[in-house]
Amino acid sequence: MIGAGLAGAAASVALARRGWRITLIDAASGPAQAASALPVGMLSPHVTRAPTPLSRLSALGVADTRRELARLIPPGAGWGPCEVDNLDHDRGRWPAALVRPGALVNAWLHEAQALGRLDTVWNATVARLQRADSDTSGWRVLDEQGQLLGSAPVVVMASAHGSRELLLSLAPQADPAGWPLRPVKGQMSLGALVGSEWAPRPQRQSGVFVPRYEDSGLPPHWPSTLWAMGSTYVRGADDTVVTEQGHLDNARSLAAMLPKAAEQFQAAMVADQLLGWAGVRCASLDRLPLVGSVPDQVALQAWMQAAGSRRGRLSVSEAPRLPGLYLFTALGSRGLSLAHWCAERLARQIDGAADDTEPDLVRALDPARFAWKLSKRQAS
Ligand SMILES: Cc1cc2nc3c(=O)[nH]c(=O)nc-3n(C[C@H](O)[C@H](O)[C@H](O)COP(=O)(O)OP(=O)(O)OC[C@H]3O[C@@H](n4cnc5c(N)ncnc54)[C@H](O)[C@@H]3O)c2cc1C
Repeated sequence: MIGAGLAGAAASVALARRGWRITLIDAASGPAQAASALPVGMLSPHVTRAPTPLSRLSALGVADTRRELARLIPPGAGWGPCEVDNLDHDRGRWPAALVRPGALVNAWLHEAQALGRLDTVWNATVARLQRADSDTSGWRVLDEQGQLLGSAPVVVMASAHGSRELLLSLAPQADPAGWPLRPVKGQMSLGALVGSEWAPRPQRQSGVFVPRYEDSGLPPHWPSTLWAMGSTYVRGADDTVVTEQGHLDNARSLAAMLPKAAEQFQAAMVADQLLGWAGVRCASLDRLPLVGSVPDQVALQAWMQAAGSRRGRLSVSEAPRLPGLYLFTALGSRGLSLAHWCAERLARQIDGAADDTEPDLVRALDPARFAWKLSKRQAS
């Protein structure tokens, strides 16, 4: 498993529960140090007037994550239930929860460790994947110097935007447009909550304002009771620098919702009491995750060419795959809702177990969908 954020931790535990042994490799010095280091996030459904794949996935995923939270983490030690007032899209008051993603990541990794099926390798950046040339098949995972970091019959790339480089290195001759993943920087502004809250409950418009979040497990560099406003959404940016501009953008979003709270935000900024956190989301072109078996792009192109006028009838599920190689990325702004539900689907697929997920949702998540469309166009 490459990547120890929400995706890699959820997939590790889902596989460990099915009896797999996992070696989890991450470039960081421990779990949940990239996007999943977010101090607090919102778990709430994405509601649309008519159902879309994202709204259906989000409804299934929110319910699933709520079950996981209730099972694994006492309220107040990594999450808490709440309601959110949506002021713009999906207007109204919705049940929700505030969650520190790192608490879920750690809980899932502890569960996999307690099953005796998880080994971890930290400070190890994967630069390349190579097909094992022995009869046993599988994959070799190499660092920048070509040193072997691990080998396994099955490899899952749960490495957010870092997955793109690994995918491109698999078939340097293939069109990179088959992997339309991009980084999206986000900055959250926060501070210690002193005195009364600035709103009765979280509010959402172009950002989310959390008037109070209390968590006994927050890392010591954060106040244990805080307010938070976030987050900015900067497409294409992949740095994690907290900027004054990011704070100003959050202040503007807050002013549009709660002018009085925005005055307090400005006062905290002037008094140098504002804290900030920035991370990088990984988003796909259609805003849906990529979950499942990795297509063999070169074979896919040849397959489309050979199909000639019949290519319109080929289904994405039939696309040729790289055996033993899986992808779990592009959770976008919804990792809390989607990680565990998608991880369960992925684990069933890897296990070859029956899955009752509706076929159109499976197709909507298929990592081959972009390369499949592209090669269909190129073959016409
Ligand atoms: C500002 C901000 C606010 C957000 N708010 C919310 C919210 O309110 N609700 C919500 O649900 N989600 C929210 N999100 C999104 C959520 O944080 C992500 O969807 C989620 O954390 C993604 O998890 P992940 O495991 O895919 O990626 P990450 O947590 O980024 O983990 C990827 C891991 O892969 C490792 N890696 C990458 N490349 C390599 C490599 N080559 N070799 C080894 N290791 C590698 C990295 O070190 C990292 O640990 C927010 C994100 C941001 C930035």
